[in-house]
Amino acid sequence: MPTRALRKALRGHAIERTTTVVIGGGHAGLAASCFLSDRSIDHVVLERGEVANSWRRERWDSLRLLTPNWQSRLPGLHYEGPDPDGYMTVGEVIEFIEHFAKASRAPLRTGVNVTSVRQAGDGYHVTTSHGEFHSPTVVIASGACNQPAQPRLRDAVPASVGQVTPLRYRDPAQLPDGGVLVVGASATGVQLAAELRQSGRPVTLSVGEHVRLPRTYRGRDVLWWMDTSGVWDQRYDEVEDLTRARRLPSPQLVGTPERAMLDLNALASMGVELVGRWGAVRDGRALFSGGLRNVFSLADLKMERVLDTFDEWARTGGYDAEVGPPERFAATRVPESTRLQLDLLSGEIRTIVWATGFRPDYRWLDVPVVDAKGQLNHEGGVVDSPGLYALGLPVLRRRKSTFICGIEDDAREVIDHLARYLAVRR
Ligand SMILES: Cc1cc2nc3c(=O)[nH]c(=O)nc-3n(C[C@H](O)[C@H](O)[C@H](O)COP(=O)(O)OP(=O)(O)OC[C@H]3O[C@@H](n4cnc5c(N)ncnc54)[C@H](O)[C@@H]3O)c2cc1C
Repeated sequence: MPTRALRKALRGHAIERTTTVVIGGGHAGLAASCFLSDRSIDHVVLERGEVANSWRRERWDSLRLLTPNWQSRLPGLHYEGPDPDGYMTVGEVIEFIEHFAKASRAPLRTGVNVTSVRQAGDGYHVTTSHGEFHSPTVVIASGACNQPAQPRLRDAVPASVGQVTPLRYRDPAQLPDGGVLVVGASATGVQLAAELRQSGRPVTLSVGEHVRLPRTYRGRDVLWWMDTSGVWDQRYDEVEDLTRARRLPSPQLVGTPERAMLDLNALASMGVELVGRWGAVRDGRALFSGGLRNVFSLADLKMERVLDTFDEWARTGGYDAEVGPPERFAATRVPESTRLQLDLLSGEIRTIVWATGFRPDYRWLDVPVVDAKGQLNHEGGVVDSPGLYALGLPVLRRRKSTFICGIEDDAREVIDHLARYLAVRR
């Protein structure tokens, strides 16, 4: 291998050779780097922006993690501050990931945008904004939330109504005064609906399938239950319907110092108007489904089932004495009457916030491993092309895969596989 100095001198003029190119300097790419270093596998981490770029450029100002501080753990690093049960602000998340990058001495190249990855000879040719690389292995850790997943409906919205996605939304002041229609009632949708309502705007929330959870249960954070009971550790090859599990919306949770529950009842009490799933636009009118009652009971039922699982686990595991008594929560209140349509030309709604989810962006990936829906074909992070790997995707190897606390186990196993691949290849 050329020396580091030689590689530096050649940069921009020649193809740099390395064993692994890691794409993405978020926590997933850095965790991959950590395990590659442990195994002395020569590699680079290419990041188009700065470390933790998504947290710097694509999150709203008031966002806090919905996972508690004690759950912020990366290989060799965990939260050591004074408030283990609190929730990090975006600034704190950036600091945490920056600290990890420094402590793990990741061979990072920032400001390097990967524009193409294609198969070449016995490996991959990686083209970037700052030179070219050749490597037998590539780890895609470019994120699962690069683009908003918006329905086609957005094209039928009258031009007089502004539209914004969570990747561009920063704070209420960015929006014009007047009514807001938030579409989607998962973590992002409920958080933004609450923030916009608190700013004094009339807010309508269009609710489809969602996951309701209490913030705390029997005196413990609900994510303590997920973590300790092993629900989050369930492996991808044990999940009954993996496709569905990978598409499951994020739970209605928010991280606030008060550890408040932010479900639809809380939003309705704040004055947020709930309407059904948005199905169509006709003559400038948004048409909503009328089945709110069913949608609410399904979410309530699923929450009950999860709480039953926790209770059963506490009973059989001998945890009953450590936690409070079992609790049950009021059913989601169905509004007396729900609007089935909303005139988007009337001026009542000035802005639509599309909280309808996110998807990855693989436009730069010139290897035929992306399906018609834009998702990567992989088996537990082992992509359908030898030497190509992925990290940080929903239920990649476990239910917790996309969360910060989920990366250590996934990255260890994926890099183990990569190392075995290299050994066999040699
Ligand atoms: C709104 C929101 C809230 C979340 N809240 C939580 C939470 O409370 N707790 C939790 O544990 N998780 C949370 N997550 C999930 C997860 O932790 C984050 O999505 C996290 O950013 C994922 O890390 P990652 O490293 O996989 O991807 P990213 O952080 O997105 O990192 C990918 C990196 O790749 C870079 N990149 C992409 N394409 C290229 C390219 N072509 N060339 C070079 N670089 C490229 C990007 O700039 C980015 O820095 C949240 C996610 C979102 C969207």
